[in-house]
Amino acid sequence: MAATDRTSIIDLLVPWAETIPDSVAVRTPPGPARVTLSHVRFLGEIGAARDRYRAAGLAPGDRTVLICPSCPEFLIELFGAHAAGLAVVAVNPLSTTRELDYILNDSGARLLVAHPAVADAAKAAAAGNEVGFEALPLVGNEGPVVKAGPDGAIGFDRADFEWNDLAALLYTSGTTGKPKGAMLSLGNFVSATDIVREMIRISPDDRSATGLPLFHVFGLAAMSLPALAAGVPLTLFPRWDPQAFVSALAEDAVTIISGVPTMWMSVLTNAPNGQAPNLRLVSSGGASIAGEVIRKVESRLDAPLTEGYGLTETSGLGTFNPLFGTRKVGSVGVTAPGFEVKIIDPAGASLPAGEVGEVVLRGPAVMLGYWKKPEATAEVLDAEGWFRTGDLGRLDDDGYLFIVDRIKDLIIHGGYNVYPREVEEVLYEIPGVAQASVVGTPDEKYGQQVTAVIALSPGAHLDAAEVERYTRESLASYKIPRIIEFVEELPKGPSGKILKREIVAMYTQGT
Ligand code: AMP
Repeated sequence: MAATDRTSIIDLLVPWAETIPDSVAVRTPPGPARVTLSHVRFLGEIGAARDRYRAAGLAPGDRTVLICPSCPEFLIELFGAHAAGLAVVAVNPLSTTRELDYILNDSGARLLVAHPAVADAAKAAAAGNEVGFEALPLVGNEGPVVKAGPDGAIGFDRADFEWNDLAALLYTSGTTGKPKGAMLSLGNFVSATDIVREMIRISPDDRSATGLPLFHVFGLAAMSLPALAAGVPLTLFPRWDPQAFVSALAEDAVTIISGVPTMWMSVLTNAPNGQAPNLRLVSSGGASIAGEVIRKVESRLDAPLTEGYGLTETSGLGTFNPLFGTRKVGSVGVTAPGFEVKIIDPAGASLPAGEVGEVVLRGPAVMLGYWKKPEATAEVLDAEGWFRTGDLGRLDDDGYLFIVDRIKDLIIHGGYNVYPREVEEVLYEIPGVAQASVVGTPDEKYGQQVTAVIALSPGAHLDAAEVERYTRESLASYKIPRIIEFVEELPKGPSGKILKREIVAMYTQGT
């Protein structure tokens, strides 16, 4: 079926319920409490969720907020809402009341559906904003199933969407300012799903596992939907536990795993045991990963680690280091099928290979725009569909993209540009460094000072003088961190990204 023939995300699932009804669609991690849903069960639960949304009085075109950790219920609610014709606003379960108030108000959602574990705070926020509330029902191993007709077809009752109808609103701070709802359409989701399936060549023999949060586009559009659309079992880890994750790889004979760099670093430090004999792909994205970490993870898990690059606004897509073809470590790869990339200068002119400028992307998974924010949309999306990412990068002669840094993370030290990522790469080469982040902190003399914050591996000993000595061997003097701090843990966001803004705040107080 051509992508444009689809009129619902549900169309990605129905064929599997018809052809391999009893095979695993989605499951929780191995263990006594494991919940496993076959394709007919999964679709049966989705039908029950659809009926609940309809019974709550919601109609096609309405929006519903979903707050749920990464578990089968998240996907059941998402698809159930979609079957009822609704757009889903997927929200981080760790959101504060203030953040929730903002999203409820801004999105104009009519209903908030929350996992029982986070229901209390969600219910209070819904009441305060005159939005309906429901705690979602947890599913077990028994429950509704869909049944095929005499011809083997399952006529699943679901609303039709147009290609450009809103399927989800995902809130992101984007390059600047307050959170904005990135409007992702049915077409964006279906295109992203088809593109990823093609890029990593998912086959019926694959089994996928992820610890990524599903409210984030990387976990949802770039990783879970392609697995479900390919009919391969998907194991979801609601809480990141590197040891449990690595032990599940052998037990479930997992072939594809996906995560953010901090997850792979924690596999190195916290999951020393366990094999992954079937693994064929470790997919990393969401933030830059140091070459040294890639090499260590590949040797630890005995599978290639391939880096992709994308944003919420592009449904998590953009570029991917080819799994079949030349993989350049340190690059985020070449454009995904259907995508184009350009590097532009501040005036918007295209730059040749080798020059650093802003990365702009165009492709079928680029958002419709920001919800109710035409000005913010116009700042990033032009009439020809090019999206300004706010990232600095360069292309090499073969069309491989290298992300240099976020424009706003660039440090200017005494008039010189320092790209934090380049310094971080060197820090990760120092034995004993488990995590490192480099930020610019205010400095009277130089404008900004290069500041490194480092977490050591268990049992490692290192002092600032040693770090400085090491960096001097590889970096020009203006790039050498002059402030070096050691911490137990670096502050991280819900998707595992290191929060540079928090680090800057930590080291600028009182200056
Ligand atoms: P989000 O919208 O939360 O997915 O964040 C998107 C941002 O994450 C991008 O603009 C990049 O700054 C960063 N990012 C995503 N993938 C990568 C990657 N592979 N390397 C470097 N930065 C990345």
